[in-house]
Amino acid sequence: MIQPTDVAPGVDLYVGLGANLGEAADTLLHAADRLARTPGILNLRLSPLYRSAPVDSSGPDYINAVAHARTALPPQAVLTLLQAIEQEHGRQRPYRNAPRTLDLDLLLYGDRRINEPTLIVPHPRMHERAFVLRPLADLAPGLILAQGRLEDLLAGCIDQAIRPLR
Ligand code: AMP
Repeated sequence: MIQPTDVAPGVDLYVGLGANLGEAADTLLHAADRLARTPGILNLRLSPLYRSAPVDSSGPDYINAVAHARTALPPQAVLTLLQAIEQEHGRQRPYRNAPRTLDLDLLLYGDRRINEPTLIVPHPRMHERAFVLRPLADLAPGLILAQGRLEDLLAGCIDQAIRPLR
């Protein structure tokens, strides 16, 4: 079968990035760079950065983005990788939903549905969060999630303040 030459092998991986402590924008750029340099993560693209008010969390505004890549890594290996990068950035979990130097979420892994104790994919709250949907729309306009079309879901989050970081 003839394959398009510009599509890397593997599946489409989407990762949500967020931080609201320290130099949050720099942290996101470093984390995306670290991901991009990992064997098995191919053709990484990072969305523009956004600023959003905390949702289910506290502290200063968050800086958020979404990354897309192709990957041949299995989903659990991706989760382990994301958690390792969080640790490299000094992530601590003093209490649930505490402010964080770096939060990495596995949003989508192809069209796989995963329901394991340590990993739920698609990420269970991504469809109701503007800070995920807005940057995701930059990378994958028109994407259809289980709950509906990306732009329609985003329109339902009109009450969540989010703006591009300039
Ligand atoms: P958090 O404190 O928000 O970073 O949540 C981390 C916890 O969520 C870890 O124990 C993960 O095993 C679990 N988890 C479940 N599904 C996911 C997912 N899709 N992406 C990232 N973490 C997940």
